This record gives sequence, structure tokens and C-alpha cells, in this order.
Amino acid sequence: MNVLYIDLSKYKYEIVNRKDLFEEWIGGVGVGIQLLKEELNPKSDPLSEENVIVFAVGPFTPAYPLASKTVALFKSPLTKNLGESHAGGRTATAIANAGYGAVVIKGKSKKPIYIVIENDKVHFRDSRVLWGIEDSLIVGRIIAEKEEGRGIRTVMRIGGGGEKLVRYACVTTETYRHFGRLGLGAVFGSKNLKALVVVGRSSVLPKDKKGYREIYDKIYKITLESDAMQKYHLIGTAVNILPLNELRSLPTKNLKSTRFEGAEEISGESFAIYNLGRRIACNHCPIACIHIAALRVPYEQEKYFYKTIMISYDYELIYALGSMLGIHSREGLLKLIHRVEVYGLDAMSTGVCLAWATEALEKGLISEEDTVVRLLFGDYEAYLKAVDYLVKQPTEFYKILAQGVEKASEVYGGKDFALAFGGNEMPGYHTGYAAHIGYLIGLRHSHLDSAGYSIDQKVKEVKPKDIVDKLIEEEKWRQVLSSLVVCFFARKVYTPEIIVEAFKPLGVEIDENGLLELGSKIYAEKLKLKRKMGFDVKSLRIPKRILETETLHGKLDKRFIDEALDYYAKLVNEITG
Ligand code: SF4
Repeated sequence: MNVLYIDLSKYKYEIVNRKDLFEEWIGGVGVGIQLLKEELNPKSDPLSEENVIVFAVGPFTPAYPLASKTVALFKSPLTKNLGESHAGGRTATAIANAGYGAVVIKGKSKKPIYIVIENDKVHFRDSRVLWGIEDSLIVGRIIAEKEEGRGIRTVMRIGGGGEKLVRYACVTTETYRHFGRLGLGAVFGSKNLKALVVVGRSSVLPKDKKGYREIYDKIYKITLESDAMQKYHLIGTAVNILPLNELRSLPTKNLKSTRFEGAEEISGESFAIYNLGRRIACNHCPIACIHIAALRVPYEQEKYFYKTIMISYDYELIYALGSMLGIHSREGLLKLIHRVEVYGLDAMSTGVCLAWATEALEKGLISEEDTVVRLLFGDYEAYLKAVDYLVKQPTEFYKILAQGVEKASEVYGGKDFALAFGGNEMPGYHTGYAAHIGYLIGLRHSHLDSAGYSIDQKVKEVKPKDIVDKLIEEEKWRQVLSSLVVCFFARKVYTPEIIVEAFKPLGVEIDENGLLELGSKIYAEKLKLKRKMGFDVKSLRIPKRILETETLHGKLDKRFIDEALDYYAKLVNEITG
């Protein structure tokens, strides 16, 4: 299996067969971590030339349904630690069909460029003319017009957020998918890299075609019969808004509350009834969970003329830019989601930063001179302007807020209500201990590391140690899924048994124990790298706000979380030696 190494400083590239890595570490995260270890100085500045980006796909791409994701690994400019982000769209298929298991990007271009990978050729295109175009959708359209490979290519690019080094800028791929979390967009920006296009023209044949067909059909059938089809296809993850609101778990107005009076208006059901325009899917996915709303917007100068904007929405976006900012209006919320999309920002971090800023303004820690506009919970017009300012950075305040809520609260105060975990802004679940301990100890400080929110909803009485054990066990297994790299929505489809079966026609023999061991090994490798990058359990901060606002288990006790962290610290020492 080949790895493509691209050096932006020298405008050179090299293709190397790294069968050694893929045999030992499968692909995706497993291989990506090894490549990062080889190429990256863990102490480097994430926005310097020294940072390295690895894109990796898995052995099931493009062979099996829902192996639709690509994993990106890098040093995060937001947390200054290990960055990992997954995206769907067409990226994984394009990389695999171009003949690569991974692409490594090093160095920094002297001028703005974009890269085009076409199987074994790499072109470095001057993109000075694109630099300064803040709208990532327009950038995508221009590149798509110019480059070949319609239908078999991916266009990953940044908007104004990445160019202005907003530490939570994302990389947008195709139209509605993102390497969203932890600031890959800023790393692109720091390297003068506006976009990465991959055109994949080859295809791969399985060793045992008959066996492949059989297991393919089985996976397809299980997927169609799974509850993922019902839940994710019908209403999408936005279906969670109403139940979480009922459970007192929906973070509202900077988590001052977990009940949002406007939940009904911004629920997945309301979006589906009044705004849903269509559903789309990542490549090779029969579920199609991506929900797109149609928003009709009048042209300012022309009467009776309208444009229709298609806007992707899901639970996390509705939480972060909706309930967290107190926004009831679906139209206002869609406009805000669209603005964040245009600039290429991570919606979760943006929402949490703006929610903190609103409360900091209420409390007098900052003034309207800082924010330029008066931020008020529920006022989406004000937030639309504030999103512009996060990118244009007209005041020192926005320059700081563009570095994340942890940084902003260090400078202006208000740490008690700055909702970041390990430097990463909070996901949308205030369900109880497991969710928050999960954010603290997860390797990405994200709800994607382990579904703590689900433990909270299933289990009433549980000890700190048991929660940590459960979370780590789940995170270890997710290393296997992330090495394959399958969509986490398919985690009930890709059981150990199915994975072992699916490997066989591809000529890979591994048993269930082998998979579990591999998950533990990759988890340990990541933790070691994280430590080398400076991670220390003792430096984890518990935002006081999560102890003040009721969860579905009532108010949380700090002693419980401290006990969990003490136990976790011991495990980290044991694992990393
Ligand atoms: S379930 Fe959704 S996110 Fe996952 S691969 Fe399918 S369309 Fe993409």
C-alpha cells in the first residue's frame, strides 16, 4: 500500500510503498499515528512549517458500504495537542482510487497554492487569485470548474476562517462535509494551502470475488435493517433535540440551563416538516443522513427575485448555534449555520465561543467596544455580525476569541463559564458524569471519542472508576473503527464478527481478539504521542458551570469527577510507561 509524501516547502513529492505499516496497523488512524510519529516533531508550533498533516483511509475503502470516511491527523492549533478529525463526502474513495492508503503533507508553501493529486501525479497550482476569497463554497465551485475529474474527485478547501488562522477553522470537502474539529483549516491556512484536490481514477478488485459479494450483501442488508436507517435517515441526528430537552440535557444559553423554550421550533421534526429540501449521502453509504434545508432569500435590490440556499443541518449545529445561543427562529438559525459554513468554521466551537462572549458581556468582563455589536441570547442578527468579526477580526477581542474559548477566558476572565475541555469546545450533551468525564479524558476531548452521553442515559448508579473503564474500553474499540475507517453511525453494523468476515475476501486474516488487541495498541500509541505533545491529566480544567446546571442525574459533584480523573491519571501512567 502506497503513501504519498508531499513537501510544500520544496514543491516535491514522493510515493513510497509502506506495506510494513499497513500490515501492522490496518490503515486510517492506526497507520496515520505512525506516520505522524515519523514525520512530526511533537513539540512543534501547530501553525509553523513543522506541522504535518496526514490523511488516511482504511482497507474497507472503497470496498464496503459506510467505509466512507477519511481521517486527518495533525497537531491542533486549538488544543496544541493531537488533532484528529474525520470527514465523509467523496474524499476517502478518491484517495483510495488514486492508489493511496495515506497522504502526508509537510512544510509550507512560499505563496498560496492548491494541490491536485491525480493518481501518481501531483500538481502544485498557484492560488494567489483564490486567496482572499472568504466563501469556501465559491472556492470549491471555482476549483471544480477548472479541474477535471467530475464525479471521481474530492475538493477539500478552506474559506476565510482558515486563511485568518481561526484556531477552529475547518476544511470543507465536497459541499456539506467537513474535517470539522480542532482546526485543520488553520493548519491549511498556515501552510498557504487553499485546497487539496484528489482525483482517483483506478479501482481495486478483491482477491475472492464470490466471498466479497456475499459479505458485501450481508453488510448492506444489516445496514438497511439497522436502526441507523430509521434514526439517521428519517430526521437525522437532529431527532435528538426534543428528547435531550425533555431529559434536561440540552445545553442552552451557555449552559445556564438545559431546557430550551424554543426547542420545539428548532427540533429535527420541525426542520423536516418546514425546511427539509433533500437528503444526501457520503460516497458508498445507503443511509444518507445528511439533511439539507432549503432557505429562500430575497435579493436585496430586486422585488420578487429570490435565491434558494441549500444548508446542511444536524444536531450539533442546532445545539451550538441554536439552543446555546438561545435562537428560536429556524430561519435565523439556518442563516447562522450558512454563515459559519461559508467561512469554513467549526460550528460547535463557534457557538460555544459566542455563547461565552454573550455571558462575558452580560457580566461586564468585556464591553461593546470589544464585541462591536451588542450580543444578546436569541438575537441571530447580532450573531451573524459576530461571525463576520471572528474572521475579519476588527478588534483585539475577536483576535483572541478566534483562538478559542479557553484562550479568551484566560485573557478576559470568565473561566467558570468557559465551556472547553482540554481546550476543545463542548459538544451538545449535558447528560451527566459520563458525558463530561468522556470529554475530559477522550483523546480528542470530544463526544466522538466515546459515547458518554449514552452511558448517562442507560445507567443510573455507577462509580467513577467504572465510568472511566467503560469510556476507555469504547474508545479503544473506536480505534479499530477509525482504522478501517468506517462511519461511527455504522458502529452497530461493523461488529468484530462482521469485520473479521469482511477482511477474508480481501486476503487479510485477523481474528476478533486480534482486532481488540490492535484497538488497545493504537489507543496506547495515541496516548504516548499526546503526552509527548504536552498532555497532562493534572492540567485538565473542569468548568464550574457544568456543576451548577442540572443534568438528567441532577447536579454533578466535583469530587466524583476528580476521583475519575485521579484514576485515569494512574491508567495513563500504566499505559504510557
Ligand atoms: S451515515 Fe451519514 S455521515 Fe455516515 S457515511 Fe452515511 S451519509 Fe456519511
